[in-house]
Amino acid sequence: MSDRSTRRELLGHCARGVGLVAIGGTGVYLGRRAAAQGLWQIDPERCINIRLGATGIEACDKCATTCVLALSAVRAVNEFSRCGRCCICPAYFDVTSEVGSDGLPKGKLCPRDAIERKPIGLVDPSDPLNNFYEYVIDEQKCNGCGKCVLACKEPAGLGSIRLEVRHDLCLNCNRCSIALACPEEAFAQREIRTT
Ligand code: SF4
Ligand code: SF4
Ligand code: SF4
Repeated sequence: MSDRSTRRELLGHCARGVGLVAIGGTGVYLGRRAAAQGLWQIDPERCINIRLGATGIEACDKCATTCVLALSAVRAVNEFSRCGRCCICPAYFDVTSEVGSDGLPKGKLCPRDAIERKPIGLVDPSDPLNNFYEYVIDEQKCNGCGKCVLACKEPAGLGSIRLEVRHDLCLNCNRCSIALACPEEAFAQREIRTT
């Protein structure tokens, strides 16, 4: 091998090395830029399923159907401090279904059976309408379809259930497919402040 070809090979290695450093630097830069842009979140004032006052409409299922993940990174969350613990919860029961002998609707609203209903406090077995209940959402089953969120509105519900992006699951895609599909422009990247 001649001196000239050895030098060319050396320069080639150096150029590739510089290129890799440059690519690495760009990656770090993009990573920092993504961090500065924040994380994808849902604006509760805009989302048609969450915002109070929006009733009598079809639930928007775009959070469930357009996320790139097989099971969306969006899930329903019940804020217990706001929940009325109603016996006939319109987010748990399909209140349009036939009423059984116990006075409760026979059908459930959640298509994935992701809500568990548990009696709390003193239980009167002879009168289920006289008891209070806790409604717990199973995160492994929920896909963020929003049906329960839309149903938990006044006058029957108190708006305690909302949709949230689970940041431990979300890939924080640069162009979030839900944000592109959202009809209300409710899906946006915001910085999360930690104290
Ligand atoms: S796509 Fe938008 S309006 Fe529809 S449920 Fe998601 S955040 Fe709400
Ligand atoms: S968002 Fe949909 S899947 Fe999740 S608990 Fe509510 S109704 Fe069930
Ligand atoms: S950023 Fe990606 S993973 Fe996260 S909600 Fe949007 S599409 Fe799903």
